[in-house]
Amino acid sequence: MKIVLLPGDGIGPEIASATMAVLEAASRRFALGLDFMPDIAGHESLRRHGATVTPALLEKVRQADGLILGPMATYDFKDESKGEINPSKFFRKALDLYANVRPARTYPGVPSKVGAFDLVVVRENTEGFYADRNIESGSSEMLITPDVVISLRRITRHCCERVARAACELAMTRRRRLTIVHKANVLKLGDGMFIQICREVASHYPDLVVDDCIVDAMMAHVVRNPARFDVIVTTNMFGDILSDLTAELSGSLGLGGSLNAGDLHAMAQAAHGSAPDIAGMNMANPCALILSASQLLASHGKRQGLESFLKAAAAIDSAVVDAISQGQATSDVGGKLGTEATGQALAHRVLDAS
Ligand code: NAD
Repeated sequence: MKIVLLPGDGIGPEIASATMAVLEAASRRFALGLDFMPDIAGHESLRRHGATVTPALLEKVRQADGLILGPMATYDFKDESKGEINPSKFFRKALDLYANVRPARTYPGVPSKVGAFDLVVVRENTEGFYADRNIESGSSEMLITPDVVISLRRITRHCCERVARAACELAMTRRRRLTIVHKANVLKLGDGMFIQICREVASHYPDLVVDDCIVDAMMAHVVRNPARFDVIVTTNMFGDILSDLTAELSGSLGLGGSLNAGDLHAMAQAAHGSAPDIAGMNMANPCALILSASQLLASHGKRQGLESFLKAAAAIDSAVVDAISQGQATSDVGGKLGTEATGQALAHRVLDAS
């Protein structure tokens, strides 16, 4: 499996290095034959190539079997004409990565403000309120006068159907519950269509229990009783916000892994950003990127029918649970280790996995 690894900005190089250590251990233990193709994106690429991402990099990623994208300082990248392209958007759009799969669960040993839970947010990734991916060229956010802005939101049958199918397939491998999150009381046409299509797609999975919830009420439900949710499917911006909440409820944003999946490509990416406040301090939690990389291995295993990749992903996930519960983790989840030592501890556990 050829994997392009882009460490990214801020804490990116630290957590990417810990992730490499764990993946190398998994490759050795499960004979995966992982072939890493490190490259650069974000600020370093802007300095060296004049753009945060380049066409040559995209071509390299297209030829690979997977991409690990470290956190990017997206907020710094404001002007595409100066090469300041949002790398997340770039890959999601160019590789048509339509489903952003963001698991969140509590961990034994990590204090949680809510009870135990284990859920997945499946967020539509290619349209919605995101002005940079709704239209072929330019932005769907317009300055009408100095005091008036209009932001357009795109919802299409095609994108609703495919993200709904991804969520249903996932729910069938879990507890078979699907919750559709929307704002159809206000966005009657767009979210009305989203619910209708999700229900149509879900009707082909008769074993699924399906309900729906308005997004504002959902914020209360997920804080009050997250255990009642299994797979949640929602549009782009609602999913972005909701999944940060669920990651934080699980104990730390540093535990929020995610996979951006399309029909041909997949990109592992932590839910958090470049955390400039703790960059270079060896205290960032690498688990979000490591768990994202585990999702990438599992998705490759499923696509290619390779049991060894599924076993490796399960071993990484167990290593994270066990290490955290025994305090072999960073301070945000109650441990005393730095980023590098956390990566090493996880790598040893994966090498010893049965
Ligand atoms: P952030 O997610 O980087 O950080 C928010 C808070 O969580 C900070 O206190 C940070 O220290 C903490 N945190 C984040 N990741 C952590 C980890 N692995 N371990 C321990 N603590 C962690 O959000 P921000 O500060 O608002 O954004 C910083 C930059 O990241 C901005 O440029 C933003 O646009 C960008 N961003 C990128 C992505 C992405 O690449 N997917 C996502 C969100 C934000």
